[in-house]
Parts: sequence; C-alpha cells; structure tokens
Amino acid sequence: MADSSPRYLLKLSGEALAGPQGFGHDAATMKRIAGEIAECANTGAQMAVVVGGGNIIRGARMAADGGDRVAGDHMGMLGTLINGIAMREAIREAGAASNLFSGFPAPTMCETFSQRAVLASLEAGEVVVLAGGTGSPFFTTDTGATLRAAEIGADAILKATQVDGVYSADPKTDPSATRYATISLDEALAKGLQVMDTAALALARDNALPIIVFSIHQPGALGSVVAGEDVGSRITP
Ligand code: UDP
Repeated sequence: MADSSPRYLLKLSGEALAGPQGFGHDAATMKRIAGEIAECANTGAQMAVVVGGGNIIRGARMAADGGDRVAGDHMGMLGTLINGIAMREAIREAGAASNLFSGFPAPTMCETFSQRAVLASLEAGEVVVLAGGTGSPFFTTDTGATLRAAEIGADAILKATQVDGVYSADPKTDPSATRYATISLDEALAKGLQVMDTAALALARDNALPIIVFSIHQPGALGSVVAGEDVGSRITP
C-alpha cells in the first residue's frame, strides 16, 4: 500500500439494495448505505465495493428453469452493472468521489477492471465500485469480491449480510442457532457454513484474507466495523 490508510473490500449483495420489496432498488435503503460508505471514505478508509445482482437476476435460477447457464450468468453480470451504476451515483450524491469499474468490458459506461487503475483510484480518495463479478460465468460476486480483495491487497473483506454475523445454523429457521464472535476460515469451510460460497471462502483462506460479517440492516454497523469496533463475526485466516 502506498500509504497507511486501511483498505477494505465491502461486499454488498443485490438483496441489500432492494429494501423491503425484495426486487430492484429501494431509494431510501440505497441512500442510507451510500451515506455510510461515503462517511467511511471521508474519515480516511480506502473503500472498494463489490455489488451483487440477486435483486435483478441470478444465472443459476435461470438454468434451474431450463435456460442456458452461460446466458443466464451473462444476464446476472449485467444486473451487477446496473447496481454498480446506481451505487456509484448514490455514493456521489452522498458526498464522496466515486468511480465504477466492470469485470467485463463496457467501455461506454465505465472502465474495465485492472489492478493498476483501481489502486490509483483508491489512492486518489475515490470510493471504487466494482461490478461484473469476475467477468466469467459459473462464479458468484462473493468469489469476485474475494478475488478483487486479493488483487488490491485489502486488509479485510467486509461481508454485509441479512443477519448480524455467522451463526451455527440459519437463525431465521433454527432458534437454537448461536452466533460466532470469531471462527477460522478452515472451520467455516469444514462446517459448510453458508456465509459465502465455498470457492470464496477457499480463496480467502489461500490468500490469508480476514472476513468481517455484519448486518446491512443495522444502521451504523459498517462505520463501527471500519472504526475497529467489535461488531458482527470475524472469520480469520
Ligand atoms: N455472476 C457471474 N459471474 C461472476 C459474478 C456473478 O456469472 O463472477 C452472475 C451470476 O449469474 C449471479 C449473478 O451474476 O447469479 C448475480 O451475482 P450474485 O448471485 O453473486 O449476486 P448477490 O447474491 O450478491 O446479489
């Protein structure tokens, strides 16, 4: 890193942007999340944000319905670009400079991802929004987030989820589920915990990338994580 600013890779699912209706973009939700990201950047953290696309379309779902998986994944990646444009605009409106990169070329809309260009943007103080996942089908944006975190040398992956950490079982359906304060990447993989897909967890383990899991629904939680407070669950290398 060129300076001592902490560098974070925030993974935001498409679902996080959809708000209560579960589809598309909820203006109030986007505004709150963008405001929290802008605040983190304006207090000195380098912020890269990988956006998912599940609020628009998922390729695996299209394949399950009998469609072609690759075509479905191409549509899914385009969905993440829609979210990326929306998030870049929301972050700018919230008062932080922001730049969008895509994992597949879309040159009339944004730059294509490269490590060099993204690092220059982060070092210039811009919030970097990363759309398009890995740019290839058969992957998820969780894997894309871990890949980008490794490429840009992030200090940690911040995984925003629907619940406030990593649980031993799904807390929405199993009342006996308990939350881990910390758990190792090896253990999370061995237990098959559903916090990120296996490819993403394995890539994080192989590259010694810590993951901090927190709730996107808890206002201020992102700022607390970036401030180093003990929020959510830590998955350690
Ligand atoms: N996708 C892909 N390659 C990638 C990342 C994503 O093909 O590297 C496609 C895939 O179809 C996926 C969709 O984009 O279902 C949306 O991404 P994801 O499901 O990860 O979004 P999230 O669940 O985070 O909203």
